[in-house]
Amino acid sequence: ENKDIATPSRTRAILEQYGFSFKKSLGQNFLTEPNILRKIVEVAGLDQETNVIEVGPGIGALTEHLARASHQVLAFEIDGRLIEVLADTLSPYPNVTVLHQDVLKADLASATKEVFDTSYPIKVVANLPYYITTPIMMHFLESNLEVTELVVMMQKEVADRIIASPGSKAYGSLSIAVQYYMDAEIAFIVPKTAFVPQPNVDSAILKLTKRSTPLVEVTEEDFFFEVVRASFKQRRKTLWNNLTAFLGKDDSTKLNLEASLKECEIDPKRRGETLSIEEFAQLANSLSTWRK
Ligand code: SAM
Repeated sequence: ENKDIATPSRTRAILEQYGFSFKKSLGQNFLTEPNILRKIVEVAGLDQETNVIEVGPGIGALTEHLARASHQVLAFEIDGRLIEVLADTLSPYPNVTVLHQDVLKADLASATKEVFDTSYPIKVVANLPYYITTPIMMHFLESNLEVTELVVMMQKEVADRIIASPGSKAYGSLSIAVQYYMDAEIAFIVPKTAFVPQPNVDSAILKLTKRSTPLVEVTEEDFFFEVVRASFKQRRKTLWNNLTAFLGKDDSTKLNLEASLKECEIDPKRRGETLSIEEFAQLANSLSTWRK
């Protein structure tokens, strides 16, 4: 236990040994609190029949806890300087594979097929680099990987946007993009003091559980998400203004849009932020019956 990578003293020793300097541009804030790491593993509900993908292992603080608790760990690290450190710090854990890759450019399907020696369920557990939280989340959600759960640390503000309900300020296309696929809840809040260097914002552990079927039934998925994004494009504008900007302002489009809104019993003067995900689905399904 004393040899944990994530204790403040061992972390300091490792950083010194390698003369490591943090790159802010890569979102490098390392966890140094074993208690937080244990809680993350607990929330993720890992066991010896679970495979784990980690994004950004850093010096291996979280990785070693994942290695102890799961079957295999596949970690993507973009910073070449850390690859050398990880080879050392993670040497006691033969069930860990670190790939020197930008996770956003990684072919997740082939990497997992190559590295994981079983088809156990896959969970993503990570302390995300905050400058690309959303792209990473979407990369996993939109991949065809059989990921059953994501337990990810991010800025609390982004976690709040993901779990937001209609009518709140934080509700937007990100809430819908994630809630469409996953059941989302904040597991716990992490204070800045748990990191070196300390970030400027509070962090939250978000737990996302894959739904067996998407939250709503849509006829054309891509079009549904386009309608959602268009409806939030200018938050202060009405649905009518945002949707005519997206679909077209000619007379026939306007007539069709009017009819669709009426069919769905949605007042054109409402703002996108007041629509539930069900209402967006209904609306997109109705629009897709007439748009070319
Ligand atoms: N997991 C470690 C911890 O909890 O202490 C480090 C977390 S730190 C917030 C984010 C890590 O992601 C850094 O190690 C950083 O180098 C890495 N990273 C940044 N961008 C990345 C990318 N595009 N692909 C893979 N790793 C990346």
